[in-house]
Amino acid sequence: MDRAVVLLSGGLDSTLSCLLARDHHEIILSLTFDYGQKAALKEIQAARKMAQQWHMRHQVVELPWLKNLGESALTSSTRLLPKFHDPEKLKEKKATEKSAEAVWVPNRNGIFINIAAAFAESLGASWIITGFNREEASTFPDNSSDFVHRTNRALELSTLLFPPKVKSYVQEMNKKEMVQKIIERDLSFDNFWSCYLGGKKMCGTCESCARTLAAFQENELSEKIRYRFSIF
Ligand SMILES: [Zn+2]
Repeated sequence: MDRAVVLLSGGLDSTLSCLLARDHHEIILSLTFDYGQKAALKEIQAARKMAQQWHMRHQVVELPWLKNLGESALTSSTRLLPKFHDPEKLKEKKATEKSAEAVWVPNRNGIFINIAAAFAESLGASWIITGFNREEASTFPDNSSDFVHRTNRALELSTLLFPPKVKSYVQEMNKKEMVQKIIERDLSFDNFWSCYLGGKKMCGTCESCARTLAAFQENELSEKIRYRFSIF
């Protein structure tokens, strides 16, 4: 099996992508980034738990300077997150564009992948696994298959000893399909953290929570996930 380094944020997308990647790769390292985001602690806890369960080496990479760039609602204590009380709002292009701008961290995924590529090259891993997916790609260009394709072209030149390639095992899925896969693979609902905020439970109203909730609702499984959210 080819070796892989996994970007594990502890969210639903990267956790599922990692689970599916385990069928094809030897995961030699999982990485979680702490860039001063409000959800950092919860993300690290969730990722660490999965890494333990799946016997993967886990490392937290700290990027404290990143929170000082831009004014992202993910990191700034003064900027509030756009709320999605009604799942219908997720279908409004203007609302999701506004939310994307509010949570945007300058070049975040570009930075993450290039750091992961340095680990991969040094460890002889030919793959970098992410949780990029079709649903997020509709709002965030750095989740798209085009971004993956072009990044892979750049990595061919920016690495020399062992050029790695980026791949997401959920690239073509939306959240509804991901929830179906989670059920199929019997992945516990207890561990993942998909909220932009910290706290005891996930908030239920940030865009990420709203998408997760909507996906469970579309699968008629919302009853099973309510216990993870503070709004119920
Ligand atoms: Zn939330």
